[in-house]
Amino acid sequence: MGEAESKAALAGLYSQGKEPRLVSVSESGHDEAWAIGEALFIIPAIPSDASTLLEYALRLRREATFTGQCSDCGATVGLTTFANIDNTPLNHSSIPHRSNCPAADENIFPLLTQHYEERAGQTLEQKLKTATRQTRQKVATLQGSRIPIKNAEFEKWATAFIDARLEDSPPCGHLKANVAQTWNMSTGDGSWKCNECFAYYQETVRKGEAILSYREEHTCDRCRKFAPPLEPMMIRVDNFFIVGAMCSACSTESQQSPKPRQSKPRSRKGTRRGSNSRKRR
Ligand SMILES: [Zn+2]
Ligand SMILES: [Zn+2]
Ligand SMILES: [Zn+2]
Repeated sequence: MGEAESKAALAGLYSQGKEPRLVSVSESGHDEAWAIGEALFIIPAIPSDASTLLEYALRLRREATFTGQCSDCGATVGLTTFANIDNTPLNHSSIPHRSNCPAADENIFPLLTQHYEERAGQTLEQKLKTATRQTRQKVATLQGSRIPIKNAEFEKWATAFIDARLEDSPPCGHLKANVAQTWNMSTGDGSWKCNECFAYYQETVRKGEAILSYREEHTCDRCRKFAPPLEPMMIRVDNFFIVGAMCSACSTESQQSPKPRQSKPRSRKGTRRGSNSRKRR
């Protein structure tokens, strides 16, 4: 297959509108291999803690690779053959973004290098702190005005549940390469995903491509009883975030106001000073 045929094949690929599939993540976590039909593309990963500008530029570049055209500067995909292995050309597809396009090499790579250099200078503890803060913000956005659960019993269960999932569920390549980011899981799926992979997974759920068994679909994540209809469940501990479903009994229990705090010894007599537990709604 010559270059002209490769180009035609690539054009055909884009016109078919095939869904891109993440194939692998490099050990460093900096690059990803994606397949669209028969073609493989290597693109920079989007770091979970990228600045807004860097994230935008990387997303733009990714979408341009997936669609063959940049939505910002309008550049279209070009192709250079850089090797021939057994008469199969290895093509380097690139998109000649305009120099003022955020996705252009000269704009994106200095930002990306700077990002990884800054990250390399942080301790794991600092990175985990950032990851926890980002996870908390994400959950707060999802919960909206709902009152977060503060039930000690439930929190204990949630922590144990997350610990168990850390034992038995595999993480995506991005999490393996960089643990200090949000770990997401949908209990129906049973694997840990970074924000990016989780967003793609949720998209497949929305499209109805991820199907659970009827039994699993209606089994409470907490008590494991088959009890339709279930209510949505969201738990977060540090940088770990799990979505699933609970039966109404477990859900009600988890929403109950906390019992008097058990962390302090109960030796003090009399009423608790300034107790406002009744004011809780
Ligand atoms: Zn562009
Ligand atoms: Zn991932
Ligand atoms: Zn239950």
